[in-house]
Amino acid sequence: MSTNLYKTGTIEVAENVYAFIQENCATNSGFIVGEEGVMVIDSLMTPSLAGQVRTAIRNVTKAPIRYLINTHFHGDHVFGNQYFQPAPIVAHHNCRIELEEKFDANMERYRQRTELIPELDQIKMTLPDVTFHDSMTIMLGDKEIQLKYYGRAHSNSDITIYLPGDKILFIGDLGVNHTLPAFPDGHITKWIDVMQEVALIDADTIVPGHGGVGGRSEFEDSKTLLELLHTEIKRGYDQGLSEEDSIKQVNIGEFSKFLNQDRIGLITNMAYQAYSGTLK
Ligand SMILES: [Zn+2]
Repeated sequence: MSTNLYKTGTIEVAENVYAFIQENCATNSGFIVGEEGVMVIDSLMTPSLAGQVRTAIRNVTKAPIRYLINTHFHGDHVFGNQYFQPAPIVAHHNCRIELEEKFDANMERYRQRTELIPELDQIKMTLPDVTFHDSMTIMLGDKEIQLKYYGRAHSNSDITIYLPGDKILFIGDLGVNHTLPAFPDGHITKWIDVMQEVALIDADTIVPGHGGVGGRSEFEDSKTLLELLHTEIKRGYDQGLSEEDSIKQVNIGEFSKFLNQDRIGLITNMAYQAYSGTLK
């Protein structure tokens, strides 16, 4: 898949609301400019990426950064937290717990890409300091921003960030476009349940954690892909197939052109753990 299938860079998705979209389904960020400050959504993984987000913000406003939101605990979304201090970091309560407890394993995953190590060595664990359980509303000037948690899905700390006035939804890694989803912490059936709830939100523009900015149809695609993966993998599980044999008969049809097809192995492994009830 070529990199120009979707628009990248800083995209104004509504007045004063921006998506920061990376190539090749790398991690996205976003920011909202209010009258007296800026809310940033995800700090990305490295000093240089966090710097790119800061530059993108400074290209449109001199206003101070008032809040940083973490969509969930994965390092590619939040290892840049320290570069947005002293703004409060707002997240689900589990994000603070997961980021702290799984910090080393989280870090180790990204250090496999050895070219990133010099940058990752500069990362200091920087935890969310304002947390919530079910939902939270933040007023940024006259812009209402609703944060909401639905339960275990892609991780145990995924939240949505919804702007009802603009019908814009930032969904972190709950929904990704142009790529298979990442599953190191995913619970496939619970994730599908969460997607049914997120589908009810009245949003026209949806900014995913990875891939291009989309709308209802891209969101439906990412939901359909999860359901299809579940159907395909569950069939093998119910037939008593080993994971290895199950993977061979997984057919995701039109989605086989998406990036990161090599994730089917981990998705199958995590799905098997979910079906057997061993996944906590
Ligand atoms: Zn993630």
